[in-house]
Parts: sequence; structure tokens; C-alpha cells
Amino acid sequence: MAAQHKKKIAVMTSGGDSPGMNAVIRAVVRMGIHMDCDVFCIYEGYEGLVRGGNYIRQMGWEDVRGYLSEGGTLIGTARCMAFYERPGRLQGAKNMVLNGIDALIICGGDGSLTGADKFRAEWPSLLEELVSKGELQQAQIAPYKHLNIVGLVGSIDNDLSGTDATIGAYSALARICEMVDYIEATASSHSRAFVIEVMGRHCGWLALMAAVATGADFLFIPEKPRDDNWKEEMCQVIKQHRSMGKRKTIVIIAEGALDKHGEKITPVMVKDLLADKNGLALDTRITTLGHVQRGGTAVAYDRMLATLQGVEAVKAVLEATPETETCFIAITENKITRKPLMAAVKETKEVAALIEEQRFNEAMALRDTEFSDQYKSYAMSANTGFSDEVPCQENEVSWLRFGPPVIMTNTLQKMRIGFINVGAPAGGMNAAIRAGVAYCRTRGHEAIAIHNGFAGFARHHGDEPLGAVRQFDWLEVDGWASKGGSEIGTNRELPEESGMEHIANLIKKYKFDALFLIGGFEAFHAVSQLRKARSQYPSLCIPMTLLPATISNNVPGTEYSLGSDTCLNELVAYCDKIKQSASATRRRVFVIETQGGKCGYIALLAGLSVGASAVYVPEEGISLQMLTADVMHLKEVFAKDKGQTRAGRLVLINEKASETYTAKLIADIIREEAHNRFESRDSIPGHVQQGGVPSPIDRCRAVRLAIKCIQHLERFGPKAYERPEDISKDPMSATVIGIKRSEVVLSAMKDVEEKETDWKNRRPTAAHWMGIKSVVDILGARADYPKPV
Ligand code: ATP
Repeated sequence: MAAQHKKKIAVMTSGGDSPGMNAVIRAVVRMGIHMDCDVFCIYEGYEGLVRGGNYIRQMGWEDVRGYLSEGGTLIGTARCMAFYERPGRLQGAKNMVLNGIDALIICGGDGSLTGADKFRAEWPSLLEELVSKGELQQAQIAPYKHLNIVGLVGSIDNDLSGTDATIGAYSALARICEMVDYIEATASSHSRAFVIEVMGRHCGWLALMAAVATGADFLFIPEKPRDDNWKEEMCQVIKQHRSMGKRKTIVIIAEGALDKHGEKITPVMVKDLLADKNGLALDTRITTLGHVQRGGTAVAYDRMLATLQGVEAVKAVLEATPETETCFIAITENKITRKPLMAAVKETKEVAALIEEQRFNEAMALRDTEFSDQYKSYAMSANTGFSDEVPCQENEVSWLRFGPPVIMTNTLQKMRIGFINVGAPAGGMNAAIRAGVAYCRTRGHEAIAIHNGFAGFARHHGDEPLGAVRQFDWLEVDGWASKGGSEIGTNRELPEESGMEHIANLIKKYKFDALFLIGGFEAFHAVSQLRKARSQYPSLCIPMTLLPATISNNVPGTEYSLGSDTCLNELVAYCDKIKQSASATRRRVFVIETQGGKCGYIALLAGLSVGASAVYVPEEGISLQMLTADVMHLKEVFAKDKGQTRAGRLVLINEKASETYTAKLIADIIREEAHNRFESRDSIPGHVQQGGVPSPIDRCRAVRLAIKCIQHLERFGPKAYERPEDISKDPMSATVIGIKRSEVVLSAMKDVEEKETDWKNRRPTAAHWMGIKSVVDILGARADYPKPV
């Protein structure tokens, strides 16, 4: 009986490689061992399964050390023709039985997962055939009557239906955006146009997200083929962008770009058009990014996704029964879930077929919500030629077909919206402002910058605002998509500190119809103060909404703040480097202090992404007992380590995890206890954590969420202050936007303040991410860890 022997799980990577595959392998091997299974790696994908022998190897805990920071797949991948045919699969089945493997976890694209499902469906008949041919005995196959398979989607294209992200897609996107950012500098210097081709034959996700993140001038993706007049359309858009004084032109084109008749649109066609001497006559170059898009180490997001999905895959294969449908592990707006595999593969194939048949709207409908949402975001923030296809909110207006944002006269009702940053800078703040301003202008609203937070606003003398309040200059704002920091300036001061009456008077003076705030916990606190002061100051009876942006990710009302992804990437890069620095000495522990205030999110998530031996967070605190257990654990690890460790070990500690046990003290304790058998150092990355260039995730989410914020403010119309009673009574007139569970939600500030806020510790009452702690502890071999006190 299968239940009586020790479960044996195998993991393989198949199809094209993608960043994060190694994190999958590490997670499956370690989680499998933790669950008391034997874990095998099948090298070279299905090729290794068919060949057997040394291609199938049992893995130990230490074999996957260092895997998180390696790109590609360390167990190899291959395309295997033999597996398409039954004899190949028969051989694969035989090798599985000979190695006693009863469950298979496959990380690959839709082809690999289709092959896996076929293998599982045929499994009983393959075993029968092996017995009938005398290759195996009945007794040999008896424990393996049923095969459990779980899929993990490793693909840079993000082309599998049913999941918001595939493993590797965000790393590829990061690489693309990095390249586009580099190209932009030279494009601007020489006033050139660049046509950048990115991967994606049937799926325009990479191209679309890159266009959103970089604010590209024009975009071609297979799902949204261009009209017959695409040439005129593109030239007109670019001409208008140029006429505003823009010195660079970026056109992003997916490999599979088409026109509406299914004819290919190539980078050469686009280039010829832009360079045409009788037309725009732009000095135009083509850059085909090619395989750099696959390269490099995984970004923090992919490491987390791959690790959490790998852990979930092990649980899924162990829980599966003969009746369970084959599943794959998906993610929907931050939630790891199991979904039926073949339904997703079928839908994915349908998208490709629909594009082939030129049924583009149906193809688009099958893409997930985030894809279509981002598509709308691009249309709304980039002023390209297809915004007419984007339904506006309730007040339908004829969308501008071409060109730069132009103030519309026939809009709904024009509003004056004040934009303000509060708190410390965070990646994505500028992208959010850029998107908000673009949307406002296209909708006919006036977007007004309030510089340097409430302190800057309050620094106002007589009738002269000293430049604290200014209309945005679009040409300047247009270049902010990839800029870090806060271009309009930010400040931690709260309205009450600046003087609430003074702030209320200024809001009245400038006739703001709405406020759009972007910032961290201070911004949250600021909205709370403004909301509560409404009874005293009617000018504060205007709609206001907060887009959370802080590396600490401690704003109530959302599970995710802009800037936290950028911060995680910085921390991951920092930790990778520091770990590597120890490779010469080999026996060193680094105790790294992260920011985050009283919220341990970035410490924990960075710990997950770099494979920390221990993570200390304020939510748990630190006890002497915990420290003792960790020091003992490190001693054991180094005692067992006969020099095979390739790099140092990391301990991550949030800056406020304990008042007494600081990074330095913990490093000292470890050093003292190590008795020269290993070394220990503390290290504080400090403000590096705010990051330089914001990550594409932060930039894309900034665009999507900022537009939703302005759309929400828009619903109240102008002069809300003339209806103070109505506004005060409407809980949705002061809101915070967030990603919660599987949705983007706007929540009433009052509710969030009262029910979801731990004011003392300046963080949400519930730490949605704490469940990940057990994964960090398990994969860091810290599972028998003493409970926090
Ligand atoms: P990518 O997204 O990089 O294309 P993929 O997994 O879709 O990844 P494929 O080349 O389609 O890549 O598939 C990888 C391997 O999976 C194939 O070489 C083959 O061995 C196996 N495979 C794919 N499709 C099938 C199928 N229909 N039946 C059996 N095996 C298959």
C-alpha cells in the first residue's frame, strides 16, 4: 500500500528556463524532507525522466543551499521529443517505479504541464503495459497504482490563464524595464526614437507591463491588434508627444504584434515609419532584447512566489487522493491557491487559438483581471490611440483618440484635485502621481501639486504660495514613471502639527475639490486627522483618498504598500552580495538590520527571499530562549559543515524587534558563543532600503491604483464643500485604497481606523503575512523553534 512506504516526491523543471525555478527546487526539497518524504530531482526535464539512471537523484537538505540566488535552473531543463510519444512516457513510468517515486512536481510552461497531465491520465495503462511486457512485476507496481502530479507555472511570458503571475515573469519584466530605462537616457540625449521588441508570441503581458512601468509612447500586443489606420494613429500620437517638447520616443512591441487582420507588425515596419523622411523623420533604432530577458537572478517577488508555491505544491501532492483533479498552484492578488490544471491549460490554448482566429475581444476576455486592468491603466495614462475602447466610469465621455493629455471641455464636471505626498519617500510615488495627473488631464480635471507635504503646504505667506502649490507641468511629470524618491517632495508633518485651521483655510483658498494623498502611516494618520476635523472646518468636507506608499508596508487597509517591493529587491541584492562576500571565509553569520518600524513585513519577506537562518520581527519580539535556540542551531550547522557551504549565513532583524537585543548585540552573542569556530558581523543597510529606481511591480501597481483613486474622487464631483453634511455622512468620502485578499478595494477610513489599526504600534492589527513565518522557519531548519514569549 502506498500509504505504508515513505512517500517519495520528485521535482523537475521543464520547457524554457525562468528565474525562480531554483527557488522552487529548494522549497520542494526542503519542505518534502520536512514532511518526512524522500525527495528526488529529475535532471534535464522529461529527458531525464525517460533516461533514468543518474538523471534521477535523491537530494539532501544541504544540496539546495545557495539555490535562491542563482538564475536559470540548476537541475537543467530540456525539450524532450520522446515524451510526446507513448513509448517515451512508458519508459518514464518505468523509471518512476524503479525509483519508488509516487508523486511528481513539475515546474514549466503549459506544454510541460499538458505533458504532465497526459502522463497522469495514462499512468494506470502505462503500468499495465509495463507488466504485460514483462518489464516490471505486478508486485513492483502494486504500491504505485496512483500517481499524484502538481504543476507549478514557470514561464517568463505570464501566459497561463487562472494565475496572476507565473514564476519568472516579474524577473523578466524587471530586466526589460532596466533595459528600457537605460535606453531612455540615450534616446533623450540624442532625441531618438527606439522600437523595443520584447518576448511574447501569444501573450503581450511583458510588453504591456513594460509599457505601463516605463510610460512608453506606444504599444503593440497580440491581444489588442491595431486598426487599419495604425500607422497614422501611431504617428499622430508620437507627433503630439514630440510637439510638447518630449525628446525621446519609446515604442514597445511584443514579438506577436498583429494588426486586426492577423498580419504581423514588425519592429522594422514601425522603425521605417518613424524614420520616414516625409513623416516624423526621427532618428530611430531597433533594440531586440532577446535572451537577456530570461537571464539573471530572480527578483524578490519571484523568489517568494516560487518558494511559497513550492511549499504549497508539496502539501498538495501529499493531500491528493486518486479522486483529486490534477492541480497547479496559482496566485490571485497575493493569495496562493490550488486550481484545476487542465482547465487553465485549455483556457490558455484558447487564447492563442482566438488570437489566431482574430477573435481578439474574446481573447482579451480570457486574460485575468489584472491584465485587462493594466491594459486600461496604460490606455488611461499613456494617451495612446486605443483609449476609446476603455469604458470610462459612470460619466461616459468620448475618449481622446490621439495624443497627449489635453484638457477636455465636454467632460463630466471638472474638478481641482490636490496631490500630496506625506511621510518618507517610497518607490512608485512618482509613478502614481504621473498616472493620476495623466488621468486627470484626460478627464478634464486640474491636477495640482502640493509640494513638500503638509509642512510645505503650510509654509505659505500671505497671497503668495512661494511655489508650494502649483499646477503640474506635464512634460516634466511624463518623465517620472521610473523615478525614485518623491519629485514633489514629501514631509512627515501631520496637519495638526502644521495647524489644522491653517490647512483648512488653505484648502478653501485653493478651492480644492478633492485630495489625493500618497504616503505611509503618516499619510494615513493625516487623512484621519483631516476627516475628524471636518465638523470644525467645512472646507475639509471634500473627498480624500490615500494610496499607501511606504517601504514598511504598515498602512492599515491594504496588504501591500507601494515601495515595499522595491525595498525587498534592494534588501535581496544587499543580502546576496553580503552572503557572497563571506564565500572566501565561508564561516560567517551576518546579522542584518532592516527598517520597517514596528512592522516586520520586509524583514520576514526578505528573509524568505534570501533564505535567512533566522528572522526576528516586532510582532513576535525576541526572547533569550529564542536566541539560545538560534545560536545552538548555528553551532550545529557549522559543526556539520565540512566546508561545503558556499557562502555566509544570514539572520535578519527588524529595527524594532527588540529594544535590548539589537543587531550588534546579537552578532556579539553569536561571536562569543562560536568560540572562533565561526565569525559573526552586524550590518545595517539603512536608507539603501528605500531603493533607487522603483521596481516594475511598484510602478505598475502605482499606475493601476492611482487611476482607481482618482476615479473614486471623481464620483463626488466638484464643490463637495458646499455639501458638507452629505460628505461628512458619507463614509466613502475619506478612503484608503488597498489590495486585500483577492481584490483591489477602497475602504472607508473610519472603519479602517477603528477596526484595523494598531495605533500604538503604527501598523495594521492583523499581520496578513505572519503565516509565512512558519515557511521561513521550516526552510531555515528552524521548525522546532521555541514559541515567542
Ligand atoms: P515554455 O513556456 O518555455 O514554452 P513549455 O513547458 O510550454 O515552456 P514545451 O516545449 O511546450 O515548453 O514543453 C516542454 C516539454 O514538455 C516538451 O519538450 C515535451 O517533452 C513535454 N510536452 C509538451 N507538450 C506535451 C504533450 N502534449 N504531451 C506530452 N509531452 C509534452
